[in-house]
Amino acid sequence: MIVLWIILGVLVILAAVVLIRTLLTPKKEAAYKAPAADERAEVYAKKLSRMVAFDTVSIPETNQREKFLPFHQLLEELFPLVHARLEKTEIDGNLLFFWKGKHSDRPLVLMSHQDVVPAEGEWLHAPFSGDIADGKVWGRGASDTKCSVMAFFQAVEELLEQGYEPEQDVYLSSSCTEEWAGDGCPKLVDELARRGVHPFLVCDEGGGIITDPVGGIKGNFAMAGVFEKGKADIRLTAASSGGHASTPGKHTPVARLADFVNEFEHHDPFRKKMSPEVQSMFEQLAPYAPFYMKLLFRNIWLFRPLLLKALPMISPAAGAMLKTTIAFTMLKGSDAYNVLPQEAVLGANMRFIPHEGMASSLAKVRKLAEKHDIKLEVFHAVDASRSVDIHGPGFSLVSEVIQETFPGLETCPYVMTGATDARNDERIAEHVVRFAPVIYGPEQMKGMHGLNENIEYNCLPGAVDFYKNLIGSNR
Ligand SMILES: [Zn+2]
Repeated sequence: MIVLWIILGVLVILAAVVLIRTLLTPKKEAAYKAPAADERAEVYAKKLSRMVAFDTVSIPETNQREKFLPFHQLLEELFPLVHARLEKTEIDGNLLFFWKGKHSDRPLVLMSHQDVVPAEGEWLHAPFSGDIADGKVWGRGASDTKCSVMAFFQAVEELLEQGYEPEQDVYLSSSCTEEWAGDGCPKLVDELARRGVHPFLVCDEGGGIITDPVGGIKGNFAMAGVFEKGKADIRLTAASSGGHASTPGKHTPVARLADFVNEFEHHDPFRKKMSPEVQSMFEQLAPYAPFYMKLLFRNIWLFRPLLLKALPMISPAAGAMLKTTIAFTMLKGSDAYNVLPQEAVLGANMRFIPHEGMASSLAKVRKLAEKHDIKLEVFHAVDASRSVDIHGPGFSLVSEVIQETFPGLETCPYVMTGATDARNDERIAEHVVRFAPVIYGPEQMKGMHGLNENIEYNCLPGAVDFYKNLIGSNR
């Protein structure tokens, strides 16, 4: 009996703590919105429009220097002072600009790529039109990511106009191979390493100001990417042991692949864990969440097991921040209805989480493949990146500048489920933050690598100001 009372007492205390923690969390609203477009925004929109109208689609495993040189001429026309005063280095179409500061002990690297992915399908505005309509600049690259390239070039252009001299060295870095994870950024990093540059902070695109970042939480949030998941493409081949479609045996190639896929669908082998970065993200979002979510996010110490189970069910995006994922993407059997395939082939794309990296994630897949007599081949594999220290000076500087530039905008750590150029810079820089200071609403999120890419250009003055403030605050 006494044990029951003790258990009851503990439960009552726990419930009280949970409720008090939740109720003590003030309710906040994500109030930041970009101001209406003014004259400045129009000027920036026109510059961005011209950059978008220039086709810079990159082709994997191809040196496209000749294709990018004319685009560089456009940059020179749009940002003449940057080109007159900064030291320009061009390596196979990749760009590095150096702006000497008063000091060189805390170099700052501003980064975003020039290349874009191909544009297919029917668009409202032709993908390389650069049309300005309905408050938006339309076309491939408008949001991924000529907007941020435009914004940091423009920021430096305006600072030069004012006769400003930076306290610290500034580098502008822009590869032309990011979309296929090519060798452009590594070459730029090699060049920085050759010069003995150890950036204090690298600020690349990747995250951004995201509207409604997690289901149930409304408004704009600065989601600053702190690490990237790794990735690999894998091919799984099940070979036939013979037989005819009129007399099929058991364990045909297609059946074995189906069994294999089912294992992942029903008994996900990958370990879920809430990293300190993801936990911090949910804690930052808690004051903006509806009551039930706030109750969970403010009490992760208690509800962790529940969250690990529930989050992937609520949102695949949230689930992807907790574990390695595998997406089955390609499938091929025989070419005729009445022919058993000699071999059936399945393609999949994996994304590795740091706590269960490439080696151990692939080992789990290999074990299941062997169980079903399936051959596994791995292509384009890279492991997860390191994480930025979210309590360190690089991340703090970015959050402070976000506060200064966008009053009322909350900064949260964010997991990049895709790969960017930024991972290359971890070789020379301790603090690598992925944040483009532009607004990505649901329409912009859909447009990136999809149809009808666009950006609402009233957010562009904020983007330019962010880079100016970042240069100014790095002392
Ligand atoms: Zn992209």
